Amino acid sequence: MTAFALQVRAAGLSDVGRTRAHNEDSFNVDLEHGFFLVADGMGGHGNGEVASGLTIEAASDFLRRSDPSESDRQSDSDTASSISRALRSAIEAGHDRVVRAVAEDQALAGMGTTVVGLNLGPKSVSVAHVGDSRAYLLRNGGLELVTEDHTWVNEQVKAGYLSQDQARSHPLKSVVTRAIGGEHDVDVDVQEIEVEAGDLFLLCSDGLTTMLSDEEIRSHLVRAEALEDRSAALVQHANALGGVDNITVVLLHFDSDDGDGAQNVPTGSNPDE
Ligand code: CA
Repeated sequence: MTAFALQVRAAGLSDVGRTRAHNEDSFNVDLEHGFFLVADGMGGHGNGEVASGLTIEAASDFLRRSDPSESDRQSDSDTASSISRALRSAIEAGHDRVVRAVAEDQALAGMGTTVVGLNLGPKSVSVAHVGDSRAYLLRNGGLELVTEDHTWVNEQVKAGYLSQDQARSHPLKSVVTRAIGGEHDVDVDVQEIEVEAGDLFLLCSDGLTTMLSDEEIRSHLVRAEALEDRSAALVQHANALGGVDNITVVLLHFDSDDGDGAQNVPTGSNPDE
């Protein structure tokens, strides 16, 4: 079993923005267990915060419980699939938790959340999402949007009726076509990406991407600064442009160097055994 050959660093930051009274985003950075989650809640009376919080909690519980030593005995490709399965199941557990909370308390009816998650495998990562929270990959200086928004405006973009810029400022831009906590089973998109040294992943809520263009996001990510500083710069920029929504960013960097305090995340292998 090959341990992850690259050093992993991560940072996460969430900000209420400039116009909202509550921060209904939630996130979790768990380097020890090698998973990362961002959720963006919706629903009146602060219930969005409940939905995103419950989803992060349930998904995190699930991912902490999924046993990495089990995958030690499998091939790398089996392990990659099991990492994806765990992430999908974790998000489904989040959905079930939100649905149950609504069933127990009708005051919570209508709450929901988006979610984007990343789970580390031995040589690859799994990325999963529901709704319009996004994952980006910065590789060799180029920024790629990894996820495809589950939104009405994105359907219009794909059909050629709206440009990306028009979609970003469209009055219906926050209408999601999939969410955690709806009446139906949740449909999770999952993909696996082989990781290369130098890769930088960004997970974020739409409070970032409705304010900043992809090129503006890229301009912050390419800077040779600490991940915490780059996260803060993204949030400050979104706030400088109005900060109309809660802003959450998680950054995850893979590096081949093994100096200056980087954490080597035990993924798919258990160095203590
Ligand atoms: Ca939002």
